[in-house]
Amino acid sequence: MAIYKPIDNQDGRRRYELFSPINMQSLGILECATNEDIQVAINKSKKAQEDWKKISVLDRSNFIHKMIDQILKDQDEIIETVIQETGKTESEAVSMEIYAAVDALSFYAKRAHKFLKPKKIKLHGAMRFMKKALLMYKPRGVIGVITPWNGPFILAINPTVQALLGGNSVIIKPSEVTPFSSKLVETLFLRSGLPKNLVQVVLGDGQTGEDLVKSKVSKITFTGSIVTGKRVASICGAQLTPFTLELGGNDAMIVCEDADLEKASDGALIGSLMNTGQYCCGTERIYVNKKIYSKFSDMVVSKARKLRQSVNPDADIGATFWDKQLDIIESHVDDAVSKGANLLLGGKRNTKLKGLFYEPTVLEKVNNTMTIMNEETFGPIVCLQEVKSDEEALSLANNSKYGLNGNVWTQNKKKGLRLASNLETGAASINDMAMSYGINEVPFGGVKNSGMGFVNSKEGLRGFCHAMPIIIERFKKGPISSYPYTKKDITSMKSFLDLLKNKRLRKFLG
Ligand code: NAD
Repeated sequence: MAIYKPIDNQDGRRRYELFSPINMQSLGILECATNEDIQVAINKSKKAQEDWKKISVLDRSNFIHKMIDQILKDQDEIIETVIQETGKTESEAVSMEIYAAVDALSFYAKRAHKFLKPKKIKLHGAMRFMKKALLMYKPRGVIGVITPWNGPFILAINPTVQALLGGNSVIIKPSEVTPFSSKLVETLFLRSGLPKNLVQVVLGDGQTGEDLVKSKVSKITFTGSIVTGKRVASICGAQLTPFTLELGGNDAMIVCEDADLEKASDGALIGSLMNTGQYCCGTERIYVNKKIYSKFSDMVVSKARKLRQSVNPDADIGATFWDKQLDIIESHVDDAVSKGANLLLGGKRNTKLKGLFYEPTVLEKVNNTMTIMNEETFGPIVCLQEVKSDEEALSLANNSKYGLNGNVWTQNKKKGLRLASNLETGAASINDMAMSYGINEVPFGGVKNSGMGFVNSKEGLRGFCHAMPIIIERFKKGPISSYPYTKKDITSMKSFLDLLKNKRLRKFLG
């Protein structure tokens, strides 16, 4: 039941046949770009960027507005392609791929000219009397965007638009199992009237991704697994190519004694099961206070029983997108059960459906000797562990090599903030599942093994540019420090240092 099968070939070009995880029907052939194809794409990209970087940020924004119109116009095509390729539910295709894209594009198109406007910088100390500084956000050049399969349209278009607004051109290398959804980013940009070659999607497998990284584009923005992220980082490090890494997670949820259990049980399900659990910030470990444990677990199980898994438009839970992931899910659940976890619901493939489906599953009595509590499972699994106190929950939550997101459920605002801010994660939510990727105002990035650098927000957009300070001399006379050095220079510098013994003056100048 593989959805991705290599095809024998004589000409040296790698090809794969792709199948839909919904029904295992053929979706077509993925033909991998060769190293030569990538070089051709980069040359075209460089040429296109030469003109693009000269136009104003407001004009670039106008192109993004046209793209928003195009996405809205062609949304059915995107939704259908994403569903066929991934098996996610229609609700998730609409909310995660279309709505999230339109929302993000509107945010950046409206604000990019403000975020990228040259900034006058106020100087401190003695320099303030002699110099002025201006910070310019200069395009970097050609940006390589490498993406995974769990959000094939949104994860390709979001960084691409930020890079474009920054005056760059973009080459996207999407996942080998969802190439057609990501290819639509290029197709729709062309339909919307964006100049040719500014956004190109090169299709291929991991080797194609590595060829793109090695081609020394101006920056790589990588989203994917930790193993590949480390490989990308080592190549970029050796070449001094700037990069960001958005990697996997094993997010914890803390349910305090005073949580609103109705809301928290809803949050546990949507957090763990959304996108069939294939969400980088999906909830994978739930630590529940023992005083409310049995009520909470009953609520979770009874709500989980009502979830509908199918290929129909009203489905709550869809397919697992890749058989490779289905094997991981199965092995993590089996390992947990063999080590004493109690299966409250599910725990097996859903064989009533034709494709790659794993039943929504609830496990309890899990602990950190089990792989499922230490590694990313990326499946429709709710894992419940009883804890004695908030402190125990926090300590278990932080006992992880991952650090992407986390969430805390309590009706005590002060406690919520204390626990959330003590999570060792890139971001956290209080009384909601992980939300930070969808909040465009805030930067998104993991700590520990979950990533390096960040994307999104004003800071993420500026990351696609080089922040170049220009220092301007205030006086016509020329440089204040010049040869030859004289005794007088040393004396006046020392007198100035003497003046700085005065704390008030130091504070004023500092
Ligand atoms: P992956 O690392 O296998 O592949 C990601 C991309 O990298 C694909 O396009 C792949 O073809 C390419 N690739 C593979 N080998 C490469 C190499 N040597 N050099 C360059 N590129 C290479 O990851 P995946 O299985 O596609 O995605 C799932 C992972 O992505 C999960 O761990 C998930 O948590 C993570 N993810 C993270 C975020 C985030 O924002 N933090 C978002 C979505 C998914």
